[in-house]
Order: sequence, then structure tokens, then C-alpha cells
Amino acid sequence: MSDVDVTVVGGGMASSEAAWQLAEAGLRVALVEMKPCAMSPAHQSPLLGELVCSNSLRSDDPIAPAGLLKQELRRAGSLVIACADQHRVPAGQALAVERFGFARAITQRLALHPRIRIERRRLDDLPSHPVIVATGPLTEGALGEVIRAELGGDRMYFYDAIAPIVAAESIDWDHAFRASRWGRDAAPASDAPAEASDEPDELRAAGGDTGVGDYVNCPLNKLEYEAFVEAVNAGRKILPHDFEEPRYFESCMPIEVMAERGPQTLRFGPMRPIGLRDPRTGHRPWAVVQLRPENRYRTAYNLVGFQTRLAYPEQQRIFQMIPALRRAEFLRFGSIHRNTYIDAPARLGPHFELRDRPSVRFAGLLTGVEGYIESAAMGLLVAWLLSGERAGRPIPPPPPTTMFGGLYNHVTAPREGAYKYGPTNVNYGLLPPLLGLRKDNRKPRMAERAAADFDAWLASLGRPRAA
Ligand SMILES: Cc1cc2nc3c(=O)[nH]c(=O)nc-3n(C[C@H](O)[C@H](O)[C@H](O)COP(=O)(O)OP(=O)(O)OC[C@H]3O[C@@H](n4cnc5c(N)ncnc54)[C@H](O)[C@@H]3O)c2cc1C
Repeated sequence: MSDVDVTVVGGGMASSEAAWQLAEAGLRVALVEMKPCAMSPAHQSPLLGELVCSNSLRSDDPIAPAGLLKQELRRAGSLVIACADQHRVPAGQALAVERFGFARAITQRLALHPRIRIERRRLDDLPSHPVIVATGPLTEGALGEVIRAELGGDRMYFYDAIAPIVAAESIDWDHAFRASRWGRDAAPASDAPAEASDEPDELRAAGGDTGVGDYVNCPLNKLEYEAFVEAVNAGRKILPHDFEEPRYFESCMPIEVMAERGPQTLRFGPMRPIGLRDPRTGHRPWAVVQLRPENRYRTAYNLVGFQTRLAYPEQQRIFQMIPALRRAEFLRFGSIHRNTYIDAPARLGPHFELRDRPSVRFAGLLTGVEGYIESAAMGLLVAWLLSGERAGRPIPPPPPTTMFGGLYNHVTAPREGAYKYGPTNVNYGLLPPLLGLRKDNRKPRMAERAAADFDAWLASLGRPRAA
């Protein structure tokens, strides 16, 4: 392989972007895509850059998280976004594309690049020279096993059981209290986030980080609990694809499956109140939904153990029956689907490289980002990090205030405690909060800050802003 500097495996969102960026940086790339020799259950065309489901790349409003990430991708000169802009179809605020035109454009640009060679074969082993693996959520067969062995231990996941995430500022603190079960599972004082004093005013007003516990508890009385269980049982659920045979582990059982088992099952599962006392009543609540901080800024919380296949609008309606969440803003809804991803924070270094075998890097959904544009962004970033390194000019990671930086930190920042790593879309919960602003002004200002910081980062790399 002496005629190739880097092999990129996969021809999807992340790999197409990574191959393009590497080639543009002067590296010779072999892009290995198994289609059409082998097809995943979701892919249907031999084209590179195939969108497996929706033809929408989500919002293009520069203040929406997905829109902000797109702005950054445009500024960085992304191939995926350039082709999407070229093949855009009317979809209101969203950037939706004519999927075949979009994928054809990506395929052509890659095929015509003088430093890219496209190889149509399934890769079943890792080469000894530098490689970026971006085989996506449906990585199967021998390569999956090889990666699993390289990771060691149980660090590769095949199902994604995602619990919803709510914005901290939308929690009704009159109906919530902070406490850890038995007062035991609180983080030791030394683990408390240094930014405790930076918490949103709402948290401080509610008692904030009083040291009494890391969890926010949302109590329900007997009637509220019974109504909730009834609603979960009656709620509309998303049926899995044929290839997504549901094989639930007891520890990540969807709440609706538990609710079906009996009216008390949730109360003995994720909604168990044992070890908790509501300071307002002095009693143990009938049932409790526990919220755990999703980030160190404590601006977002996940509903512990609430992975679900309820349809998104149903989640909004039913979870808002929980008194503390009646005005909850959902940053992410719960889901369960077939997904292959690795425990990136535990196993990857700052350049997305395997700590024990740095010639192997990962990109895209495999690293624990969710979505077409998130995957493309991480493909671009891993390529820049690698080409910078090869050129002897290592680049600093993107600022944490940008969507690129938020995703970068999500993938690479070490986790503490028993945190189970899971994929994420872009959302404002990934960014450090801006304090002292009115709620309606906060996201626009965070978007402005992200744009300015992203441009400054590009300038520091000597890369002109592309758009
Ligand atoms: C059924 C389904 C529906 C989805 N719907 C959406 C949606 O509507 N919107 C959204 O934003 N995201 C959706 N996603 C998530 C989506 O897959 C990712 O967001 C995105 O496509 C991942 O990008 P990627 O580059 O990591 O992987 P992919 O885009 O999946 O690309 C991986 C590529 O690697 C190839 N490959 C796999 N194994 C090998 C091998 N051993 N050798 C060579 N090539 C290989 C595959 O053929 C594929 O072309 C969906 C995922 C699935 C599974």
C-alpha cells in the first residue's frame, strides 16, 4: 500500500467527508466501500454518501443546533454540505436534498479527485498503515469483531438505548428536589464540577448544588403514577425495522416493556422511590423519575433508565405528565435502535485514535455521534487532525463553544463514575452556558459566540473561511 497514505473505510457521511479532506490536504487516499459487493440491510444504492433514511439534514436555521453545525461545516469547506446545498429541495427551514443527486455529486467529486482511489470491497481486517474506520451504525461481520477485539473488554455496543434529555432551565423546581439515593451516590466533594457557581440561576434558586445529591428527583403521587403508567401503555410506539430484532438486556429495557409487565414494575424499576425522601413532605414519594446531569455545566439532564420506543410527540405528551417536567424542553427524545458504536471516551485518544494502536482512527456514528451532519463533521475533524499531524503542524481541537467543539468533547472527554456512553445529536447542552441572559436571548448569543470562535479557530489554523 505504499501508493496510499491513508485508507478510509466506508463510503458514507463521515468517510466521504474524511477522504475528501485528506485528499485536499495532499494525502493519497484509498476509500474502501463494500457496496455493491455487500449491502447492509438499510443501504440500497451503490452510491457513496447514501442517506439511509430521511432526505433531511435537519434545520438550516443558524440558531438551531443542527443549523449552527451546518454553518460551521460550510465555513470549513465541507464536501457533504456543499453537495447538499447544490441538491437542496424546498423544505421550509430544513435543508432537505434530492437524495440521488446528492449522493451522485459526492460519488463524482470523490471519484474524480486525483488523490482518491475508490475500492469496492468489504474490509474484514485492519491494515497496518494509517486507517480511518467509518463504517457506521451497521458495521457487521469480521471487521466488527476485529474492532471489538482491538477495543478489549465490552467496549462496543450494538444497540442504542437512549433516554430523553431535558433542559435544566425547563424543570419545574417547585416539584423537584435534589438528593442521591440513601445520600450515598453523590459525587465526592472533589468531583463536584468546578463550575458549580456557574450554574444557571434556576438551579441556584432551587437550592442548586447544595451537596445533598447529584440527582434531581421528580416525585409522583399514587394517582399521578397510575395515570402515567396508563398513558405509557396506551402511547403510540415506533415499530423496529425487520433487521432490528429487539433483544433487550434487562438493564436497558424500554419503559413501555416494563409498564406492560405490570402496574408496579416501573415503581420497582427506574421509578423506584426507595432511599429518597421528599424534603417538602418529609416522606418517601410513591414513585420518582430521577434526572442525572448530562454535562458538567448541568444545563441538561437525562431521565435515568427511560429508554423508550414511544413516538417523539407521545414522549413529549406523556413525560410532561410528570409534575416537575410539565413544561420540559426536550433536547433529545428517547429511542432504541440497532446501532454499532464504541465507547470512544474510554478507548480513543484526542485525535480519535485507538490509544493502544494509534494508526487506527474512527469517525462518524461509530464514535458515538448521531445523525448525518454530525457524522460528516466528525469525518472532517478526524481528517484535519490526521493531516495536521502528518504535516508536522498538529491542530488544536475546535473551541468548546462551537458545535464542532461540543461534539469533539462528547466523543473524547473522559467520563466519571458509572456513566454509560451513548450517541448524541448536536444540542446546546453540549456547549458551555452563557450566564446572565434572558432565556429568549441565550441561544442567539450562543450561536454568535460559536460563529466568532469557529472563525477564530479557522484563522488560527491558517484556513480561510470557506463560506
Ligand atoms: C435504519 C437507519 C435509519 C437512519 N435514519 C437517519 C435519519 O433519518 N437521519 C439521520 O440524520 N441519521 C439517520 N441514521 C443514522 C445514520 O446512519 C447516521 O447518522 C449516518 O449515516 C452515519 O454516518 P456514518 O458515515 O458513520 O455511516 P454510514 O453513512 O452508514 O456509512 C457507512 C458506510 O460504510 C460501509 N461499510 C460498512 N462496513 C464496511 C466494511 N466492512 N467494509 C467496507 N465498507 C463498509 C457501508 O456500506 C456504508 O456505506 C439512521 C441509521 C439507520 C441504521
